[in-house]
Amino acid sequence: MNSTTLNIAKFGGTSVADFAAMQNCAKIVASNPATRVVVVSASAGVTNYLVDLANNELTTEQINNTIASIEKIEFAILEKLNDNAATQLELQSLLSELSELAHNTKNLQTDEGKDALLCMGERMSSLLFTEVLKQEGCAALNFDARRVIKTDSQFGQGTPDIEQIADHAKQLMAPALAEQVLVTQGFIGSDSNNKTTTLGRGGSDYTAALLAEALNAQTCEIWTDVIGVYTTDPRITNKARPLPELSFDEAAEMATFGAKVLHPATMVPALRKNIRVFVGSSREPEKGGTWIAKDCSQEPYYRAITRRKDQVMVTVKTPSMLYASGFLSHVFGILAKHQISVDLVTTSEISVSLTIDNPPNSVRKKINQQIIKDLREICEVVVEEGFDLVTVVGNNMHSEAGVSSRIFQALNAHNLRMICYGANPHNMSFLVKEDTSNQVVTDLHSELFE
Ligand code: ASP
Ligand code: MG
Repeated sequence: MNSTTLNIAKFGGTSVADFAAMQNCAKIVASNPATRVVVVSASAGVTNYLVDLANNELTTEQINNTIASIEKIEFAILEKLNDNAATQLELQSLLSELSELAHNTKNLQTDEGKDALLCMGERMSSLLFTEVLKQEGCAALNFDARRVIKTDSQFGQGTPDIEQIADHAKQLMAPALAEQVLVTQGFIGSDSNNKTTTLGRGGSDYTAALLAEALNAQTCEIWTDVIGVYTTDPRITNKARPLPELSFDEAAEMATFGAKVLHPATMVPALRKNIRVFVGSSREPEKGGTWIAKDCSQEPYYRAITRRKDQVMVTVKTPSMLYASGFLSHVFGILAKHQISVDLVTTSEISVSLTIDNPPNSVRKKINQQIIKDLREICEVVVEEGFDLVTVVGNNMHSEAGVSSRIFQALNAHNLRMICYGANPHNMSFLVKEDTSNQVVTDLHSELFE
């Protein structure tokens, strides 16, 4: 290994969905001698099944059917391997562990129990992908990420301990990289008691960036099913086009505000260590992709439009809020106690509106009756669902006359429930009814990019 260049390659769920997809990934790994660490997601669909099981609301029959669906995905890959007897034993042992955890409904009442189950998808895909790599002629070893990705004990949303991760990666991973490629699991880690934790949905990208940081890599590749990051989601408008470059700041905004290609925290380690991040398609690597770096050749006013679905708006209102100090801290105190993470806030004289991200299959806490009840003790509360958040990501949108007016012009015909503008020069966000968001994005795209 040339010690001056190290690349971490991460393959997402669709890239490791089946044997043929894994073969594409193996070729990508083999073609770049700098790639010494591979991070994999669970095969597409598996984590969703595991979340269904972890939610602990299924009948025994439903549990068995869900496990059968997972087994089908894993065995279809196993069967395509040439010499698979030993791997089959390992896979079967992981599946029995999974089954035991899935039926242990008492254990699943805790977030700790849920994480023990949620980690199974990555543990199976890394086992299988290691074998696919070997079959492609690449010396590879399956490495348990939990030995290195140390986190706090916030199960479901562990916070990584950067220093420990760096220490462990240097001790346990770096020396092995000369001999073989280490294949490890995204998304999972362990706390100080060696209990399994997870980094939140989509967390495999974050794992890759954390390892890139810990091992002083120059680049981190995120291989997925699209040829880079687009001006907007191509499923919303076919005028969307891939972006050759993005700045760290823009990418971080896009990820936070709904661009599905990157986990929002991914850019944090990249930024700290100035690691260039690449996003491309493992099915079509020859098509190139998006490079995300500190400095771009251009910093356009408008770079992209993102949409985040499933937003809940909570409006809290009290006449006594007028000039009352401490009201907001009360509200946020209640939300914090229930581990609710608030995204946008707008205030008016007697009311405050907040948005909360509420996607299905999320492990994040959702607003529930108890939280509403707690809030009602200090104010009136209205909860409205069915919103999407549309965000224009760019640069210096505040500073130049006419830059924001073009955005409002495009939105003339739309009803905007909440506008957030000003907290940061890279973003301007609008809360709109979910049935209008396609049109909002399309209109903005046509005004700003076409
Ligand atoms: N498998 C996890 C998920 O689906 C993590 C990831 O794919 O990044 O959320
Ligand atoms: Mg992902």
